[in-house]
Amino acid sequence: MAPISAETDFLVIGGGSGGLACGRMASSRFGVKTMIVEGKRLGGTCVNVGCVPKKVTFNAAAIAETLHHAKAYGFSVQETAPFDWTTFKHKRDAYIKRLNGIYERNLQKDGVEYVHGWAKLLSKNEVEVTTDDGAKSVVRAKKILLAMGGHPTPAPSIPGAEYGINSDGFFDIEKLPGKVAIVGAGYIAVEFAGMFQSLGTETHLFIRYKTFLRHFDPMIQETVVKEYERIGVNLHKETHVSRVEKDSATGKLTVTYKDASGNETSVSDVDHLIWAIGRDPATQDVGLDKAGVNLNEAGHVVVDEYENTNVDGIYALGDVTGKLELTPVAIAAGRRLSERVFGGEEFATTKLDYDNVPSVVFAHPEVGSVGLSEPQAIEKYGKENVKVYKTSFTAMYYAMMEPEDKAPTNYKLVVVGPEEKVVGLHIMGLGSGEMLQGFGVAIRMGATKKDFDRCVAIHPTSAEEIVTLK
Ligand SMILES: Cc1cc2nc3c(=O)[nH]c(=O)nc-3n(C[C@H](O)[C@H](O)[C@H](O)COP(=O)(O)OP(=O)(O)OC[C@H]3O[C@@H](n4cnc5c(N)ncnc54)[C@H](O)[C@@H]3O)c2cc1C
Repeated sequence: MAPISAETDFLVIGGGSGGLACGRMASSRFGVKTMIVEGKRLGGTCVNVGCVPKKVTFNAAAIAETLHHAKAYGFSVQETAPFDWTTFKHKRDAYIKRLNGIYERNLQKDGVEYVHGWAKLLSKNEVEVTTDDGAKSVVRAKKILLAMGGHPTPAPSIPGAEYGINSDGFFDIEKLPGKVAIVGAGYIAVEFAGMFQSLGTETHLFIRYKTFLRHFDPMIQETVVKEYERIGVNLHKETHVSRVEKDSATGKLTVTYKDASGNETSVSDVDHLIWAIGRDPATQDVGLDKAGVNLNEAGHVVVDEYENTNVDGIYALGDVTGKLELTPVAIAAGRRLSERVFGGEEFATTKLDYDNVPSVVFAHPEVGSVGLSEPQAIEKYGKENVKVYKTSFTAMYYAMMEPEDKAPTNYKLVVVGPEEKVVGLHIMGLGSGEMLQGFGVAIRMGATKKDFDRCVAIHPTSAEEIVTLK
């Protein structure tokens, strides 16, 4: 490995979505001498243990569903076609490895100095880098970006919690499990549960309240919960896991949980227990105290709307700030920051607008959301100023199917004021992921309900229902 530079203009800690976007632009567009330090694998959470391998697995689950539906369309395919998880997993790993290589070559192309190692702040301008061989170097940097992302929240302290794995461990599973238990109500837990269920695994999902996806509009929470129950996910509502035991002969787990009245029940023969109970920022043991960087109570780096920390010349963005934990948000924040800090006068006030960011949950079916939920809109604008348009129907795709195979589609448009400005769109159903992006553009541009109505429908689609809401 080439010796590490002792000085750089811009040092980025973390080669994930945000760090790479910011560092690459600083170097390639603005000619800034830039170093990126990454301790694990380039691409960060999204590429290695997040969006990318998750979506590939979601695609496999969607194919399983299509095979199941094919019969209704007259195909005589084997409905329970065997799914070779092991082969699939290794192909998925190889794809991720290829991406890691592409990311490294992109850094070379953009003239960024890439150091594989762990970074720790010694002061506001000095970073200690420990490389794989254990060697330590000190790099002086004029400006520093904290883009360390986060990691899964550790399992709760209950007996046997250590027998469980987290979302990182999901991607190491070598064989299609017969039975899984997932704990959590966020999108990661819901996505994993949907994928396992579709691939034929007996799936148990433990949630603390009556619904999951609790940051989403109530319509989404209620309808997806119902749908998960309909497709056969064993949903254990208002429960918490109290104990986990492992059979030393078979390696199988018995997961014991308490319901709201304190009664204990067990699920046995579980192949994997997955704790998907949140994510914590990677702000421990990085020397932030040495540089005087402020954290909030949850341990996130405190930044202003321009991604400035309280220390001059130190910035932070992405999951480490806890703002909106999504890859495109980290990338967009990274690019805006690069423009503002290195792009001169023209970009002096450039920053990311965190409003109206569309997001999708790759649940079964997919869920998409942009803007305010109905309760958020009521809180912000007052009940009398908020109007809701919604529809619930069965997509034409299911017309050929038996009633038990028909999944619902639900859309809700939240509008405010006499001009009926659209402030929220919440959709659930086939194709929602691809559908939402375009509507996101319209809502960002300030579209009203009339604008939606004036857009001529595309027939026959599900999306046409969004521009014909009554
Ligand atoms: C299972 C799962 C599914 C997800 N699915 C989606 C999705 O579908 N869509 C979406 O938009 N988002 C998704 N996300 C979220 C997305 O992955 C994150 O929001 C995004 O990766 C955040 O980017 P980041 O740059 O802030 O941090 P990360 O991508 O986490 O990158 C941080 C990097 O910093 C490195 N690092 C940390 N500390 C140090 C140090 N001291 N020295 C050197 N390197 C360090 C880490 O190793 C890591 O590689 C998912 C996340 C998970 C876990």
